[in-house]
Amino acid sequence: MQTIVSFSNTDTVMQAAKLAFTQYQQIPDAEKANFLDRIAFEIETLADDLINITQAETNLPTPRLLGERGRTTMQLRMFAQMLREGTWVEASIDTAIPDKTPPKPDIRKMLVGIGPVIVFGASNFPYAYSTAGGDTASALAAGCSVVVKAHPAHIQTSTLMASAIAKAIEFCKMPAAIFQHVTADSFETGKALVQHPATAAVGFTGSFSGGKALYDYAAARPNPIPVFSEMGSTNPVLLLPNALETNAENIAKQYAGSITLGVGQFCTNPGILLGIASTSLDSFATTLATELALAAPSKMLHTGILKAYQLKSAKAIEQAGVTVHTNNIQSDITAQPLFTSVSGEIFLANPLLHEEVFGPYAILVVCKNETELITIWEILKGQLTTTLMGTAIDFENHAAIVQMAPQIAGRVLFNGVPTGVEVCASMVHSGPFPACTDSRFTAVGINAVKRWVRPVCFQNCPSNLLPIALKDENPLQILRLVDGEWKR
Ligand code: NAP
Repeated sequence: MQTIVSFSNTDTVMQAAKLAFTQYQQIPDAEKANFLDRIAFEIETLADDLINITQAETNLPTPRLLGERGRTTMQLRMFAQMLREGTWVEASIDTAIPDKTPPKPDIRKMLVGIGPVIVFGASNFPYAYSTAGGDTASALAAGCSVVVKAHPAHIQTSTLMASAIAKAIEFCKMPAAIFQHVTADSFETGKALVQHPATAAVGFTGSFSGGKALYDYAAARPNPIPVFSEMGSTNPVLLLPNALETNAENIAKQYAGSITLGVGQFCTNPGILLGIASTSLDSFATTLATELALAAPSKMLHTGILKAYQLKSAKAIEQAGVTVHTNNIQSDITAQPLFTSVSGEIFLANPLLHEEVFGPYAILVVCKNETELITIWEILKGQLTTTLMGTAIDFENHAAIVQMAPQIAGRVLFNGVPTGVEVCASMVHSGPFPACTDSRFTAVGINAVKRWVRPVCFQNCPSNLLPIALKDENPLQILRLVDGEWKR
């Protein structure tokens, strides 16, 4: 297994990934499913060693890590199940009509793996969105080889996870280079991997500057490739008037929990709260400030993230017209939750306040009326999530807001908090740019596999040469669209 790679030997890695991809393509989905299950088993076998190492590297508490490990193995098993069921290839068959003028040929289509995929794991999800996380699991399920560029903030965790995958490769007799784990000492290595001719796609979770840089490297290739960068979001929450009149305190308590969950280190953290000036919005602000003051300062993932949080929040706080409602005593070790407010007019005029402050930070924008609230919300579009806190009366009185919500974000929540992303078929973890570089695809849930495939059409293909999913007798018994009719 590769552990250190420099700019000079990325070619060796990518040539191996290319060859392994071709070999892996020939392996039946049922065997790939066993391989994914085996990775989950090997991760579980790492037991407390894994949890202890990650705890030391990331400051994340054990219960959170146990939950995230469960999610990671569940994702692997979910994709294994998808492969066994088989319909994911979206097979369709349009049979020939020879006596049509001109004659209609036999045309069959299915999805196939796109090629070697580079995964840049997230620092804030050392298991579920890193080395053996959702991007790797979905790409391996799609039939792609994977090269993980290890995140430097949890390198030991990443190496241990990679060793679990290597064991699964050996046990299942998969091509050795179907998964490679590389560390890098400069951006040049990541850039060389993205720009290598054999690379077919890239998955990334992290900062806007990182995700956009990888996207630009890919666009500058002679043959551009897709880059699925998930770059975070401010996740605007709309606090509608009737909900505040009836429930301001409870909503504030709910949001104090969401803003501080995981020390605010979630891309779905609610960073911008929008409401229309009223006494109930004032009491929401008072309760939220009180609740956040009770939250103990906590360690962040690494000192770089802590420093970035302190710098960005300090910059936001010093802007004219911004009121700070919580203590602002920061330390070199822990992050203090921060809650500020500003008028809609000042917010509109100052784009710096629209930026994500990654950490336990939220700003309340006090709008003078619904028109100003909608104007601000529209400017913020390009989000992973947006949340409407409202009663039935609110949704009737503000129908335009309900109608507009899907234009803002990939996930629209009603009366909840955006932190917490369920892994299921209907989940969308994506959104218009700059939340993601391709809003058509989700990074979470079974549909994440669609980022790593492309459709291939077989025209007049002799039946003995057809892929098994497209054969007349449907040996896999999968659901297929045959001459416009769904059939097994
Ligand atoms: P990051 O700086 O975006 O880095 C993530 C990965 O991308 C690392 O492996 C990094 O390589 C690589 N990378 C970044 N810029 C690159 C470039 N120009 N060329 C090649 N490779 C590049 O993310 P981070 O270290 O996890 O955290 C930094 C900030 O990102 C945080 O303060 C926060 O604002 C944000 N963040 C957002 C999310 C989210 O969910 N959207 C999650 C975590 C962090 P190196 O190893 O060489 O650094």
